[in-house]
Amino acid sequence: MSKIYPFQIGQFECIAVSDGTSQRMPEALKMVFSTAPEDELDQALRDHHIDKNDMQNNFTCLVIRTGEQTVLIDTGLGSGGSATTGKLTESLASAGLSPSDIDLVMISHGHGDHIGGLTDDDGNLVYSNARYAIWQGEWEHWTSDETLSAMDETRAAFVKKNLLPLQDRLQLIDSSADIVPGICALPMHGHTPGHIAISINSDGEELVYSADTVLSPIHLEHPTWSPSFDSIAQQAIESRHKLGQYAIDNNPLILAYHFDFPGLGHIVKQGDAWGWQPRESA
Ligand SMILES: [Zn+2]
Repeated sequence: MSKIYPFQIGQFECIAVSDGTSQRMPEALKMVFSTAPEDELDQALRDHHIDKNDMQNNFTCLVIRTGEQTVLIDTGLGSGGSATTGKLTESLASAGLSPSDIDLVMISHGHGDHIGGLTDDDGNLVYSNARYAIWQGEWEHWTSDETLSAMDETRAAFVKKNLLPLQDRLQLIDSSADIVPGICALPMHGHTPGHIAISINSDGEELVYSADTVLSPIHLEHPTWSPSFDSIAQQAIESRHKLGQYAIDNNPLILAYHFDFPGLGHIVKQGDAWGWQPRESA
């Protein structure tokens, strides 16, 4: 189902655009919080009113219309997900946007639920007029022979199908300099080697698209409860601390990709760690 949530950051028109939602199996808990002690995790789930047998995983991308450029961050799962995902272009259509309207696609990291929508079933770029920005180390990681040869064939073919067509339109990022005026990368490595959050600034207001630095509000309270898919676990924990500290220092609105749609809220200090305050209840 297409879903959009428009909001404003200063002069920028922002739209949370859903790629869909999928059901998480109870077994997935062991992956999302791989290092959590079971009893403490059970308690945290109760505190958050999360039913193990009815957990949703959301995939929420972001459009920013700066007035000069239309920027899309991440592309969802594409057609390779489930029947309830791969809805990004439908969501864009509900916002009055066609893929050819996108001037710049920024990619937070190379996992399938973020790059799967870059190409269609024939391998053509969906965002035909866009240029593409990704952290340099992330690009080098996913396109290296070493990484590709360590994957099974299906996965390697998927990565190549979605990433290699970007080659001629690519801007590799290696700093927090603006990519377009008001939009820059915040390195939050560890989930993958070159995973980034993205900061959007206009008229003194800030939005931080936190991508997969935290997959659940529980990761803010327990930054060491690492997802098994953090590729460099210790660095990912440091990035969760960095995000928490950044949020306390700058108080940006946050868009967290996998949180309940639209994934908007604020990070607040809570004990030794942090907590999540959804925008709706704020
Ligand atoms: Zn993800």
